[in-house]
Amino acid sequence: MNSSWKLLAVRGIDIRIHITFPLILVFAAMSYGQVGGRDGALFGVVSVLLLFVLVTLHELGHSFAALHYGIPVRQIVLLPIGGLAQLERMPEKPQQELVVAAAGPAVNVVLAVVMGLVAWLLNIPLLGGVQDFSLTFTALFSFLLLYNVILALFNLLPAFPLDGGRMLRALLAMWLRYDRATAVAVNIGRVVAVIMAFWAIRNGALFMGLIALFIFVTGSQELAATRWQSRLRRSGYGHMVREVFSPVVGALGPYDSLRQALAERMRGWQSDFPVADDGRYIGFVTEDGLLRAANLYGPDALIYAAMSPDVRPVSLQTDLLDAVGQMARLRVWALPVVEYGRLLGMITYRQIQEFIRTTPGFPHEDSPRIVRA
Ligand SMILES: [Zn+2]
Repeated sequence: MNSSWKLLAVRGIDIRIHITFPLILVFAAMSYGQVGGRDGALFGVVSVLLLFVLVTLHELGHSFAALHYGIPVRQIVLLPIGGLAQLERMPEKPQQELVVAAAGPAVNVVLAVVMGLVAWLLNIPLLGGVQDFSLTFTALFSFLLLYNVILALFNLLPAFPLDGGRMLRALLAMWLRYDRATAVAVNIGRVVAVIMAFWAIRNGALFMGLIALFIFVTGSQELAATRWQSRLRRSGYGHMVREVFSPVVGALGPYDSLRQALAERMRGWQSDFPVADDGRYIGFVTEDGLLRAANLYGPDALIYAAMSPDVRPVSLQTDLLDAVGQMARLRVWALPVVEYGRLLGMITYRQIQEFIRTTPGFPHEDSPRIVRA
């Protein structure tokens, strides 16, 4: 929860820096300091801070494109290895994914062209200050121009999940099935990652090695998730919540306090609770919501303070896939089952996983876990 600090918000998007971010400043100060002494260290810190302004603009490019298609953007997090725009969901149409992925590097291309024009108009030597690690306008200008080009080119590498890899997947998905397109893009990404890793080892380039690892791991995870979902979709069983949910479930009353809910949480197996009044469904409390509310309002606040407004109850006829989809979107592990306003029970992610594992005809491979933010 508190692993990042909020810097500012742009069009409702929080821009946050991760607690590990200062590492890159220390790293920059040390490595530039070795070349240029104290001036070099200062140059390292200032230039890397400016570099992350470029990274933020790049992520805003992705974010604005997503907003254009009605996809909410949760936040932008700045990490030592770069920025991350967290979208509520991925664009479903390949054309939209193509535009969202291309919008980031496009920002850097436009900035590089504008900076090139400015340099030409003001007669600034284009890369004149690249080897000059002092805090002069020319040195910083050259550094930023160079890194704009590097950011654009690097992100356009066809290494899924980098932007270029996503663009490639989107292009392939116009002709291939989505999971096949993902598999091709991820495999190309793996090859690029291995080449990068070899290069990083030979040259002792720690950051390049980290990025290669990131490409390999994240690409593989996303491929597993895509395969699982498309298998589920194709198996087309149309299983419903009715077959899986548990009708006997602990519920909280509207006048319960957070303290009682926490006690209930400590006592039993259950970590998420529906709230009901005499059988009538009122709301839903997740473990996260409960802990957060207890932190904010103290344990004596009423349970209303902890209810998640986004959770929509499912009915007995809801398709299991839709239930899983809602859980993934909201990052919750359970949903209330409600019919005609009456609380009937609850369905959990674990129950669905178990059901899929034990039902013939369903894929028996390991399902991906929902990533908790
Ligand atoms: Zn990007």
